[in-house]
Amino acid sequence: MTTEKPSRRGLLLLISSPSGAGKTSLSRRLVADHADLTLSISATTRPPRPGEEHAREYYFVSDAEFDEMVQAGEMLEWANVHDHRYGTPRAPVMAALEQGKDVLFDIDWQGARSIADNAPDDSVRIFILPPSMHELSRRLHARAQDSLNVIEGRLTRAYGEIAQYRLYDYVLVNVDYDHAYADLAHIYHAERLRRDRQAWLGPFVETLLAEKI
Ligand code: 5GP
Repeated sequence: MTTEKPSRRGLLLLISSPSGAGKTSLSRRLVADHADLTLSISATTRPPRPGEEHAREYYFVSDAEFDEMVQAGEMLEWANVHDHRYGTPRAPVMAALEQGKDVLFDIDWQGARSIADNAPDDSVRIFILPPSMHELSRRLHARAQDSLNVIEGRLTRAYGEIAQYRLYDYVLVNVDYDHAYADLAHIYHAERLRRDRQAWLGPFVETLLAEKI
């Protein structure tokens, strides 16, 4: 077999869930565990939560800066979510794909749909459900990062987001974090092994068939 690095066609892992279902920590762990997977850092007009850092969780930008990015065509997609705007900067995603990397998006259903419509063969859509609405509420309150008003708004919107689950290829119920993580990693590994994502396979099989024993 050739010793060259096999060429790789990057995939787009689109992960959505209502706030509090565990999407962010599951996503970040998957990225930390896989060198070929990179996280798309979104831009948002919402203010940072305690502990969040600019350019780590999000690019926290003003309304005017967000407008400029949209007008300059710098957003792959953007949407209004929870009274603020969120968008995916295009350049880092393209750069990652050119290097053969996979990109994970922590994104709402509107963004997931828009990206998957534009790149259907390269997109994998995963939705994470909470075990119950009661548990979702408990987790949002326990995280204590948002005011009660904001939490109520997120819970109300959760119903609308959950109703979109049919847009997704895979659906996980996050009852137990480690179990949900194992399922997420299995999905990612299996999707990586799909024949059309292994661009090196054709030439490799040719060398196999040319080999006489
Ligand atoms: P949060 O304020 O809890 O960080 O995020 C709120 C929602 O916005 C989540 O559902 C998150 O997935 C979504 N979101 C984050 N970044 C983007 C983005 O770039 N585009 C879209 N469409 N949604 C995003």
